[in-house]
Amino acid sequence: MKNSHTIREIRVIPLYGVPYSDWPARFGQREQTRTLVEVITHSGIASLGCVYTSADLVEGSLKLLRPLFQDASAIDPAATCEKLHQNTFWQGRGGAITHTISGIDMALWDILGKVTGQPIWRLLGGKYRDRIKPYASMLMTEPKELSAKLQSAHGRGFRAFKIGWGPFGRRDDRTDESIVKAAREAVGDQCDLMVDAGGSDAFWPHGYKWALEKSHMLRDYNVNWFEEPLRPDDIDGYVELTRHSRVKIASGECLTRRQSFIPWIERRAVDYLQPDVTKVGGLSEQHRIGQYADDHSILVVPHGWNTGVGLAADLHLAAAAANAGWVEYLTPEPYMDDVFAVPLQLEEGYLRIPDGPGYGYEWNVEGIKRLSDGVVIGKP
Ligand SMILES: [Mg+2]
Repeated sequence: MKNSHTIREIRVIPLYGVPYSDWPARFGQREQTRTLVEVITHSGIASLGCVYTSADLVEGSLKLLRPLFQDASAIDPAATCEKLHQNTFWQGRGGAITHTISGIDMALWDILGKVTGQPIWRLLGGKYRDRIKPYASMLMTEPKELSAKLQSAHGRGFRAFKIGWGPFGRRDDRTDESIVKAAREAVGDQCDLMVDAGGSDAFWPHGYKWALEKSHMLRDYNVNWFEEPLRPDDIDGYVELTRHSRVKIASGECLTRRQSFIPWIERRAVDYLQPDVTKVGGLSEQHRIGQYADDHSILVVPHGWNTGVGLAADLHLAAAAANAGWVEYLTPEPYMDDVFAVPLQLEEGYLRIPDGPGYGYEWNVEGIKRLSDGVVIGKP
């Protein structure tokens, strides 16, 4: 067993802190929604995955899953993780269990990459691009403050921007337009600008007609896509809106499991689908979702950026998908800056797809130790 590429242990690494000062913490002072898992093999390889939920839920999920993953192959990510999915249909599937499997699956793809000496994109079938444009993702604030933030990100090399949440759709139409107008003026006509209403917010008050009217305003400012203008489960609303909106419609960050995406894809409920690799079930699941979307002429915009580990997975998924466009990203951002050993560089507004084995990145051991209150990674 000592030298075999089977799973010996999976550790939980909670990350603490709130990335945005203007994001309302809902779960106490130390809101904790980002958790790393470290999969360690009997052969001594340690790899990270990322889960979008609290460490307590990941801990509980791992406890349940342990008999299934203990000593399972660490170099057969899709098969090993499908076994975890298939055996937990009655045990919170689609929720914390699926989120946790996402992190395990990501780490297993990295292990497979390390063992074979290949980048994950090649193991997924090969790459369609060498680089992809990230969009700087930021919360909406009052127009003047937001303009300064956008200009600062532009100065750091970003050429695509997404503004979202904040007062948009929560105050009045004039506020909405003044924010979008200021944002377009701040980034200029040559850059991509996206608007995220944040319809997965609690008790989102708007429906189809509000969203359709808002899309007319957004068209005036040449907005690339309108994200989550409706509640996340309103598939009929999305189908209508995507058919009639004057801008592209994007959604999908709350969906988990490939099966949940089937009606959204088959009914062409969105123009752009945004699966989150840290929630849907990992790279194995998202790659299948992406391929099914491609067969229905739907573009995929990966949404797993909540840590550098998620972004790394997104870059490989985006490389290996014919129908990928953009990835979500932002710096400065502790979950990026403290996670990558070498800070990522933008080249003409693009991020390069890494070519090294697995993710192709080294992690910042000290940075992760800082974010996790003392956990040291890579010590099998
Ligand atoms: Mg969003």
